[in-house]
Formats: sequence, C-alpha cells, structure tokens
Amino acid sequence: MARYTPMMEQYLAVKAGVPDALLFFRLGDFYELFFEDAVTASRELEITLTGREGGIGEKIPMCGVPHHSSENYVLRLVEKGYKVAICEQVEDAGAAKGIVKREVVRVVTPGTVMESKVLQEKANRYLASCVETNGRYGLSFCDLTTGELLVVEHDTEQAMLDEMLRHQPAEIVVPAGEKDALYAQTMKDLLGSVLTSGEEKTHRTDRATEVLLAHFEVISLDSFGLARNPLAVGAAGMLLAYLEVTQKRNLHHLKMPAYITSDEYMTLDSFTRRNLELVETLRDKGKHGSLLGLLDETVTAMGGRLLRRYVERPLANKARIEERLDAVQELHGQLMLRADMRQLLDQVYDLERLVARVAYGSANARDLLAIASSLAVLPALKGRLLSAEAGLLRQIADKIQDFDELVDLVQRAIVDEPPVSVKDGNVIRDGYHDHLDTLKTASRDGKRWIATLEQEEREKTGIRSLKVGFNKVFGYYLEVSKANIQHVPATYERKQTLTNGERYITPELKEKESLILEAEEKMVDLEYQLFVEVRDEVAGALGQIQQAAEAIAQIDCLQSLATVSANRRYTRPQIETDDRLLITEGRHPVVEAMLKGEPFVANDTLLDNSSHQIALITGPNMAGKSTYMRQVALIVLLAQMGCFVPADHAEIGIVDRVFTRIGASDDLAGGQSTFMVEMVELANILHHATRKSLIILDEIGRGTSTFDGISIAQAVVEFLHENPKVGAKTLFATHYHELTRFTESFAGVRHYSTHVQEKGDTIVFLRKILPQAADRSYGIQVAKLAGLPNDVLARAREILAELEEGQVQSAVSPQAEMVREAAPTYEVKTEAAPEVKAAVEPQTSAQSSQLSLFAAEHPVVEELRGLDVMRLTPLDAMNMLYQLHQKA
Ligand code: ADP
Repeated sequence: MARYTPMMEQYLAVKAGVPDALLFFRLGDFYELFFEDAVTASRELEITLTGREGGIGEKIPMCGVPHHSSENYVLRLVEKGYKVAICEQVEDAGAAKGIVKREVVRVVTPGTVMESKVLQEKANRYLASCVETNGRYGLSFCDLTTGELLVVEHDTEQAMLDEMLRHQPAEIVVPAGEKDALYAQTMKDLLGSVLTSGEEKTHRTDRATEVLLAHFEVISLDSFGLARNPLAVGAAGMLLAYLEVTQKRNLHHLKMPAYITSDEYMTLDSFTRRNLELVETLRDKGKHGSLLGLLDETVTAMGGRLLRRYVERPLANKARIEERLDAVQELHGQLMLRADMRQLLDQVYDLERLVARVAYGSANARDLLAIASSLAVLPALKGRLLSAEAGLLRQIADKIQDFDELVDLVQRAIVDEPPVSVKDGNVIRDGYHDHLDTLKTASRDGKRWIATLEQEEREKTGIRSLKVGFNKVFGYYLEVSKANIQHVPATYERKQTLTNGERYITPELKEKESLILEAEEKMVDLEYQLFVEVRDEVAGALGQIQQAAEAIAQIDCLQSLATVSANRRYTRPQIETDDRLLITEGRHPVVEAMLKGEPFVANDTLLDNSSHQIALITGPNMAGKSTYMRQVALIVLLAQMGCFVPADHAEIGIVDRVFTRIGASDDLAGGQSTFMVEMVELANILHHATRKSLIILDEIGRGTSTFDGISIAQAVVEFLHENPKVGAKTLFATHYHELTRFTESFAGVRHYSTHVQEKGDTIVFLRKILPQAADRSYGIQVAKLAGLPNDVLARAREILAELEEGQVQSAVSPQAEMVREAAPTYEVKTEAAPEVKAAVEPQTSAQSSQLSLFAAEHPVVEELRGLDVMRLTPLDAMNMLYQLHQKA
C-alpha cells in the first residue's frame, strides 16, 4: 500500500492538532499549505495552486508564500475570518537527524491579532467568550493588544446581546459542542463575528477556576471579586485557556479580570446607541457625523479608545459625574494648560499596545524607543496635573510613577534609528557594553585594513585594475583581469576562474576575514542578547506602565471634553438626583456643528414625573421634531459623561436609561419587517422603563395601517401615563393629530408643535417648539418644498380631498367599527379637515372627467382606498401617481 512520505506524515500529524485552522507549514524559505487548506488559501489569496508528490501516487494540492512576506498573507486570511496556524522548524536543519522537528508556534485568529497593520488605533479589538446555563449568560472580553480582560453576567438574551454589540468582538469562543446552539447562532447572525469552540470542559467552573488561579498566580477567586459569579468565571477561564493554546506564550500583560458593573453607569441598549448615532452614523456607519466624531479631540490612541467608552457608557453616579465635570471645568477655563497638555500628550505613543507587545515578546527596538520617549514626557505631564485644583486630575497624577531609570536605560542602549529586525545587529549603541565595543572595533579595524588593501596591492603589483571583493561562498578575495594575470605574485592563491579574470586569496586576507566574520557573528548574537535584557527590564515595569497608560487615556479624554466644551460654547450642567430635566436654549450638538451658515434654533425642555411627564410633539415632516428629541437625549448623555452641554442652562436629574424608538430600521439584519422591529423595540421599552428613564418615541405605529397605528400609539401613551411603576419621562413625536385630542385630558401630557409659518401656499420651518398642538400636517407643502412638479402637487391635493371624502364613508366600514370596539373612547375623525378642503382648488372640467375614471369598479379606486396617504413619502406619492396614471 502506498504511504505518505515522512515529511507528509509529519504534516498530517501537526495538522491533526489544528483541524480548524489553515496550516502554514514551514519548509525552508516558504510556508506551504496542503490539501483543502491549499485550495482555500489559493482561492482567498489569489495565489497559484500547484501539486506535490506526497508518496501516495497522486499529487497533493499545494500552495505557498515566502516566509519573509508571510505576515500580509496571514493577516489577509484572518481578516476574512480564518484562523491561521504557524508551524515552524524548531531545530536547526543541520543538527537534525532525519526530518527536522516542526511545531505550531502560534495560531493567529480574528480575535487575537497583534499586528498593528490591521488594528484600528482608536478602537479596541475584542476576543469574547460566552457561557450559557438555564437562560443566564457569563461573558468575558479580552483585548490582547492592550491586556484588558472584562467579565460580566446577564440573565436575559437581550442583555447578553447588547453587551456583545457594545464590544463588537471579532471572535467569540463558546463551549466545545455548542457552536450550533441557538444563542450561539443568534450572536453570530447579529454580530457577524467568527464563532470558535473553546477547549473541552474549560468553561466548567472548576476547570475555569484552575486556569484563572494558575494564570494570575492567586489562591482564590476572591482576588477578583468573582467568587459568586460562576458563569463569568467559566467564560473567563475558557477564554484564557483558548488564548494559552493559540498564543503558546507568556501572557503576563493580561490584567486581572474586571467585572463590568452596571449601577454606576447609564444603560443604553443597542437600538438606542444606534439610533442616537453615538459612535457611528446610521447612514454610512462612519464616525464622522456621530457624537463620538464631534467629541473626539483626543490626541493619543489610548484616549481615543477610552472616549468611545465614555460615550457608550455615561455615568449614573452623581459623585463620579461631578468629579469629571470639575476636571473638565478646570481644563475648560485654562486655555494654556489645555494647550500644554495637548502638546505633551501628542508626544505619547500607544503605550498600552506597545507594552503589550513587550510582554508578548514581539516588540522590536523601535517599540522600546517609542515607549521610552513616551515615558519621558510623563514627569512634565504629572507636574501640570499636580498643580491642578480638581481632585480627579490629582488622582490621575498619582497613578503616574517615575520611569527615569527605565527611560535612561533604553536611551543609552538603543541606537537612534534601529532597524525593524532585532536579530541582525545595529541595534545597540556604542559605549553601552564593553565587550560589544571590542568586537565592533575588531570588525571595523578589519574592514578598514581590507579597504586599504586594494590600494596597497595595486601599488605592489602594478595591476591598476586589481579589486577587493566579497561574496558569501568565498568570502573576501582579490580579483585580477585576464590581461594582467602574468603580474600576479606567487603569494596569491587562485580560488575561482571567471570568463574575464581570476579571483585569489592570500593567507593574510583570510586571517583578517575570519577575524571580521567571527566578530560580526558574535556581535549580532550579543546585540540580540543585550536587546532582550533591555526588553525584559521594560517588561518588568509592565504593571506601572499599564497604569500610566490608563492615566494618560483619562487625562486625554478629559482634555478632549474640555476642548470641545470650550470651542462650542457649552455650559456646565447642574447634576441633580431628582427626576427632572430642565434645559434652557438647548441645541443638538451634532446638527449644530454640521449646519453650514444657518444658525441652529435653540429650544427649551421641561420634563418630570408629574405634570410634564410626556411631551407629545406634532408638526410636519422636516420641521425638526426628531432633532429636538434627540437633542434632549444627547444633552442628558453629555451631562452624565461629565461633559458640558450645548444649552444656556441645564438641570439634569440623573437618568438610569435612555430608550429610543426612532425612524425606520429596515437595515436591520434578520429579515424582520419594519413593523415587527418597531414593536420588538417598543416591547423592550415598555418592559424595562423606570421612573428614572428617558424615553424617546418617534412616529410609533408608522409601519402599519393608520387605525392600527393610532391605536397602538394611544395605548402606549396611556400605558406610560397611567402606570405608576413606569412614569418615565417621555418625548413622543407623532403626525397623528387625533392623538392630541385623545390625550387632552391627561394630566401628565403636554402638547407641543414645531412652529411653521405659511407664506402663500408654501411654508417656512422656524424650528421653534411651541407649547400647543399642531392642527395640520402640511404634507403637500412639504412635498412642494422637496421640488415635486406642480402638476403632481395639484393632483395630490385633488386626491387628498377625494380620500378625505372616502374617509367619511369609511367611518362606517368594518375596519373603523373594529377600532371603535377596541378603543371605545376614541373619537374617529369623521370629517375632512376644513383647511385641507379649502386648499383644494376648484375643479376644471378636465379634472372632473379624470375623476369620473374612478367609477365604482375601477381597480384604481380599490388601490386608492387601500392607500395610507399619511404614510407616503413625497417620492412614493409620485411613483404611486405614475402607476395609477398607467392603469387609468
Ligand atoms: P422631523 O423629525 O420633524 O421630520 P428633523 O428633526 O429630521 O425633522 O429635521 C429636519 C432637518 O431640519 C434637520 O436635518 C436639520 O438640518 C434641520 N433642523 C432641525 N432642527 C433644527 C433647529 N433647531 N435649528 C436648525 N435646523 C434644524
């Protein structure tokens, strides 16, 4: 029977250990892939697929990449969601008996990439894990590039998914055998992350505990405060075990697991984070145009990453908010101090990631220099902070220790511009190490001697074309052209014949050569050894450097908030513990910044748990309703983040949660209908809102028929208003005028509208919120502003009048009857609004004849009846008209 060659046998044995990764198998200067891996990689990387004889008769598919450029290929595969196992030769080919020993040295996976090429500077890259038992979830998140390790437990799937969405992990580890479990698939579909099986049994509390205790060298889970969180322990243990098998190296830079606490923070579910465009816009998912985009005046990568968290997790604790506000206020008021700080921070590299690379063993000499020059800035920064008044700034200063010795060591040891590689010399400075200096002198002297040799020998022999050269096979040699061979002295020993000449050596030359080569070899080894010593010294200060990095991130965020507050004329909010929101002349921070030329119209807000619980806002499309509601939410968020706010005055009773239900969410994955999504979000709000919550509802019920929509909207308002357990402050925008009438008697409901001025048959939006309900929708005027052709507008008015008539008849239709039954208190509108009637122009005879087309049985009539004009966008109206026209 045909058998594989020994090399292929070795390959298969290695591959068996990493079945779900593409195996990069080192053969000389290449990494080769075989079998299915080769087919996949050649397709994904667009490289040639070849075959190799493997001993079994038929060719084995194969492809390969040069080892020196392999990193790019590996990263490309990982970015596409694959895992790549790197298998190296782990013994010297010369020393090996039989086949060289090979082992997997690291598995690169989407959640464990360390290479800065693919990392976003101002975003974390998380590997997550999730363990589920009886509907309760344990989660952990690790950013290997910064060493952060977080854990949390949740008791609903929604909360678990929210947490996942907030961290956007690149990869999620689940217990072995659970990849197909429902919760795992839901996560995968929602997040698009790669799912990975953890090591067998490592999620079980006992095994996970062992892994954690061993890694962090502690004797009890109490050290992390996790003794009562078995699921969080399971998740963290499984994650750590996975890191250990894939990274196969010391991971000392991982910080102890920190539990994500929630009472300290405002809760924002994923809908709300998305709707309020906190870190990216709805339209193009970009940061520009989001709240984070506006607030990000950070100078360091660490600050950038922390600011994203500030934005996604505002505080809910008065003392902590005030602490930040004090710091922001001090920085806000001192332009010079801020400018100084920004200038100092600008000199700080990404310490967090650099020091993680040191611990991970992948830092090079350039990284050490970057760390040293960053640390060198700290004393000045600390000095500035210590002279501050604000307690928080002083606390931050205390976290920064003295790194003088370390900085000095690195700067003494490493040359100014070291090469990328640390194994080829030229890394260590002259004067740092005596023996290295001796070797350097020997090598330099030898080279100098050889350099002068050429001239000397030319003079001695009279051969003017004589040259000294070097190649890898023969080392140094003297080269003489054919024409001059007769002048070569007898002491020259011929080594190689060329077409045009001969190459010679002399004993002296060889002697110098071996001195040089020997010295160089020793130099390279010694330099590497010295480099590693320095790197280890830096690794020894890991904890302190991580702490300093945190301090830098914090100060950078605070200066960023202060800078924005000052540049945009924000004011310090008053933080209260009651349940009232009072905002005078508030502005929408992002819309204000985006408006070019036009001034932003400021508006006031008062919401509380009693007479101003629900603000019902009516007004035409485009009048500024959404902007106004979002502005209130964003002002609260900014205040609780510790930032100043865009308002003349703001009193903010701390909010525990902001809920939003805004606009259409057709873009959601999962194929649910818009209406379904809307109802799911609404259910979430009604189940979780408390007296301390702020709710924003925009056009609830838009996704269904008018009557259904009104009924649902009305029921929601009633629920929020009547239910004493809820009593949440609510902003509710609707175009259902009926609703204003239905809620007139509600003590906690206030009616508002957006001020619109009519000018002839056109309208002007004044963007001012008035304390009264709107009485009409101005849909056709808005369509006019949007540039619909006059014919279409005239026709639309005509159809509107017709439909209003239709509505009179439909008052006795079965559908209307149902609404009456379902909500007997509702007064269904039975008359066309007089002002709309007035807007209809007198019919011409041509129009009348057109109208006659809508005789009883015509299909167009049916279609028109089914139309919900209120829900039509101007464009839809035009399309619809066109279609009707075709059918008529
Ligand atoms: P609606 O929700 O009523 O349809 P939007 O809130 O979407 O209206 O507002 C439409 C546009 O009007 C916004 O994109 C913004 O450019 C502008 N706008 C809204 N409010 C204001 C304001 N207070 N000052 C200036 N412009 C505003």
